[in-house]
Amino acid sequence: MSLEIHQLPAFDDNYLYILRDTQSGETAAVDPGDASVILKFLKNHRWPLHKIFITHHHFDHTGGIAALKQKTKAQVFAPKYDEHRISQVDHWLEEGLEVTVGSYKAQVLFLPGHTLGHIAYYFASEKALFSGDVLFAMGCGRLFEGSPAQMYQSLEKIKTLPPETKIYCAHEYTLANGRFALSVDPNNSDLLQRMDIVENLRQKNQPTLPTDLQLELKTNPFLRCHSPDIRKTVGLTTSPEPQVFAEIRKRKDQNYTDPI
Ligand code: FE
Ligand code: ZN
Repeated sequence: MSLEIHQLPAFDDNYLYILRDTQSGETAAVDPGDASVILKFLKNHRWPLHKIFITHHHFDHTGGIAALKQKTKAQVFAPKYDEHRISQVDHWLEEGLEVTVGSYKAQVLFLPGHTLGHIAYYFASEKALFSGDVLFAMGCGRLFEGSPAQMYQSLEKIKTLPPETKIYCAHEYTLANGRFALSVDPNNSDLLQRMDIVENLRQKNQPTLPTDLQLELKTNPFLRCHSPDIRKTVGLTTSPEPQVFAEIRKRKDQNYTDPI
């Protein structure tokens, strides 16, 4: 008896997820940007689809809703903030509400910044977080709608989860994120070591995800705004953490073109 998690690559660098309670057979998709990827996987396994969980309104996360709903009659769950911009939703979600996959419960965390309505799904029993485009391996989502202060607060909230929490991000941005991370944290030995592993995996075209919170705390500059080394590199040794965060995010935007 377990909650199975399957990671499916889609588009250039997205990951879609399928969750399944092996006991009841209840099956859910997280951020199905491309219906065909999900349908093919379900067909191979001869599994139905009961639920769809959406983290935010961007097309690479919502593009498959209509086709999946039509073919599977799955119930769609999405952030209430996005009521005006995601269609075919059956249940609107807010901080503190819960969703289930069979007997497994996920808490909804409200994490604005990348978009103003962004939510994540946290399965406490599995220590698994589906973080959409909030937190990436060694990076964080671009601020399309929110302020640096909002994103900083959202990342602080993730930091309160158990360090062993596995983080299922929606994009394989790890290699580029790591290169940027090294530019602000060049002497971080955990980061240098991680980059060796990541480069190796990417050379073989293998996923670098999921990651876990503990590793991110050691290597993700956006979670390390307290670090004296990073502060020194960006020239903000005494500024409050949200200001350091804003500066790191700005540098990343200037030097690296993050996709969506
Ligand atoms: Fe995305
Ligand atoms: Zn997005």
